[in-house]
Amino acid sequence: VLNFEDVKDILIRRLPRRLLNLLRLLGEYGDDVNMPVYVVGGFVRDLLLGIENLDVDIVVEGDGLKFAEYAAKQIGAKMVPYEKFLTASLFFKDGFRIDIATARTEYYEKPAKLPMVDISTIKKDLYRRDFTINAMAIKLNPLAFGILFDFFQSRKDLKEGIIRVLHRLSFVEDPTRIIRAVRFEQRFGFHIEETTQEILTETLEGGYLEKVTGSRIRQEIEKILEEQSSLKAIRRLAELNILKHIFPKTYYTGVMDKKLVNMYNFFQKLGDIYKNYNKFYCVLRVLLEFYDENSLKEVARRYGIPKKFVEETKFSEKIVIPVKEMIHDKMLFSDIYKVLGKPSPETACYISAYLECDDQEYFYEYLKKVYETKLEKVSGEYVMKKYGIKAGPIIGKIMNELFCKKLDDMKIDEIFELERIIKNLRGEDE
Ligand code: ATP
Repeated sequence: VLNFEDVKDILIRRLPRRLLNLLRLLGEYGDDVNMPVYVVGGFVRDLLLGIENLDVDIVVEGDGLKFAEYAAKQIGAKMVPYEKFLTASLFFKDGFRIDIATARTEYYEKPAKLPMVDISTIKKDLYRRDFTINAMAIKLNPLAFGILFDFFQSRKDLKEGIIRVLHRLSFVEDPTRIIRAVRFEQRFGFHIEETTQEILTETLEGGYLEKVTGSRIRQEIEKILEEQSSLKAIRRLAELNILKHIFPKTYYTGVMDKKLVNMYNFFQKLGDIYKNYNKFYCVLRVLLEFYDENSLKEVARRYGIPKKFVEETKFSEKIVIPVKEMIHDKMLFSDIYKVLGKPSPETACYISAYLECDDQEYFYEYLKKVYETKLEKVSGEYVMKKYGIKAGPIIGKIMNELFCKKLDDMKIDEIFELERIIKNLRGEDE
């Protein structure tokens, strides 16, 4: 049954004034150039769910580039065309942006490759999308402003909380939809519909995810990690056996889950210490733990993970247990420092995965201390001049020792301590 419900009232009630006016204008421009104009996709889904979404995706039946050019001129926006894809973006002076596309059908020359594009109608355009909940359009032309185009029972699925593909080959055409299904399911607390899940599993077992480039998979994983519910999504990826097809040597056990729980707990404090950290690399530290070197390098190559990550992973796997014990025993910061130094955010997160709440607290104090502590009076230069020591590793050793002293006691007199260190050193020499 076709559904052409009128959702104009919802538009009026839920959208900011300015946005509503913009949509009306776009509809009028559509009439001017004689083209049907729609707002589509995630915007419509979120509107009906009552969730704010300012990503406006417009689809035009006809020449989308021509429409974009006309609209840009009328409204005083800057248009940037992407001719190859028959799409364009309009940039407004205040930085607001909307995307305009030509209604199209896509056909796939080979599974798991990017699609070829043909001009088409709104129904076919919606049919090529990932899930029913993302496949609705609202018409904007004045006479039909606010009419919902729902060809695939999308609104029903939205009400019932169901993630459903539009046709059987959907996952084969674009296997990244396998990961997207989990993302939307967990974001909205929905459920992947039974047949969809069967097809998903068949496609997985057919090895289609392995045909997709690593960078496209990585992008989808990174999008999952941006979600509020990302830990639940990781669990679901494991449960549906998707994780195995992304990281073949990962066994998602209860122990691994507990480590992620600890790490997620620590994420909340991390921003105080590190301005930016890469959540993807942090989570991978746990998911790729104990990989043999070759498998690790292979995964790193596939997903564009830097060499440094591989080296750090190997190093931190060796020290994590002793460091955990030292933290648990509340040993001196200087003792921990001698093993761990100033860890990268990823390594700090990895250590945190092994720590219960109380120990995380002590570890957090450690990190803060290590990153805040600076020698104020003594520099390498100063040591060289005052004691007539030549540049070389010995200077580093002296500075390090002094730094350790200060880690344990902020109130030390740097000059006095330095004197003692030098004396000791010269005593050793004799
Ligand atoms: P989000 O709220 O995360 O931005 P979204 O639904 O807007 O979700 P986008 O990735 O921005 O997601 O995609 C916009 C729209 O394009 C989707 O609603 C969907 O209709 C369509 N789409 C995106 N990726 C795919 C895909 N891989 N296969 C089919 N359709 C897709």
